[in-house]
Amino acid sequence: MRAVMMHSPGNVSVVDRDDPIIEQQTDAIIRVAATCICGSDLWPYRGANDVHDAHMGHEYVGYVEEVGSQVSSVRPGQFVVGSFMASDNTCEVCRAGYQSGCVHVQGMGGIGTQAQYARIPLADGTLVACPETPDADLVPSYLAASDVLGTGWFAAVAAQVGPGDTVAVVGDGAVGLMGVLAARELGAERIIAMSRHADRQALAVEFGATDVIETRGDEGVAAITEMTNGLGAHAVIEAVGTQESMMQAIGSTRAGGHIGFVGVSHGQEIPGNRLFRSLVHLHGGPAPVRRFLPDLMDRIASRSIDPGRVFDRTLPLEQAADGYRAMDTREAIKVLLEPFAG
Ligand SMILES: [Zn+2]
Repeated sequence: MRAVMMHSPGNVSVVDRDDPIIEQQTDAIIRVAATCICGSDLWPYRGANDVHDAHMGHEYVGYVEEVGSQVSSVRPGQFVVGSFMASDNTCEVCRAGYQSGCVHVQGMGGIGTQAQYARIPLADGTLVACPETPDADLVPSYLAASDVLGTGWFAAVAAQVGPGDTVAVVGDGAVGLMGVLAARELGAERIIAMSRHADRQALAVEFGATDVIETRGDEGVAAITEMTNGLGAHAVIEAVGTQESMMQAIGSTRAGGHIGFVGVSHGQEIPGNRLFRSLVHLHGGPAPVRRFLPDLMDRIASRSIDPGRVFDRTLPLEQAADGYRAMDTREAIKVLLEPFAG
């Protein structure tokens, strides 16, 4: 099969790779219908993480090709969506809704789903099948559910977004934009997107943002404070992962308010005194997307949400290097890759 490989920072190509096989009887093999490039793939691309000849990709939807003898919840031919973290969905942690902390968790990034086929471990716990093969135009939305939608949704739930709330969203990447959509669906009254890019601002408004502010850092905090009668937002979604974005989130939240943080942490050092005085709730981490998949897939099937709009470029898998370049330069918000195009 063909699969994406990152040889070193900035150096991506598509290479031949052995087709995956059933390794454990709890595995499934899927034919990948669509995959994509994640903002987190840009960390190694930009040299912020070490990388050497790594298989890439952790987001996927596709058709089940084959299942191990212990798999009972999905069968060949079904269209399935799975989380970027494989989980058994049966342990105590999973049953509490934290599948990304499963005692048997396996990151799909180590397997690499930017490929024509992928092995899905713990298939019964990880995959959710659509009742029937979805219309082609819904495939991008199901793909979004695999990570960015599920992650944005978790951020909003972790920030306890509810009816009537004012929500601020730090970060205008795909996850931040999905956080806007989630906040709207969860009933937020006012949703303030923090973004300085016109294309992303437009999409944020389409997904439900009521206000956009372009300032960041202390200025961004001052703007949020002014817009909320000096109180700060009830709920803040932090979808970047830097020191500045986290401090902006803490500064933008009112005393007693909640922050859902889902940006992969890079070099954050939260000053204890600042956190202590803030009186905010902090909850986040790698999103337990599997918790939300059945609900999100129902909303997509009924066309009540359209998260697939977050993909503003579609390329054949063979052109993955162009996709990485487009996301690195912010020409594209999120790039969908079609493994069997052309
Ligand atoms: Zn588990």
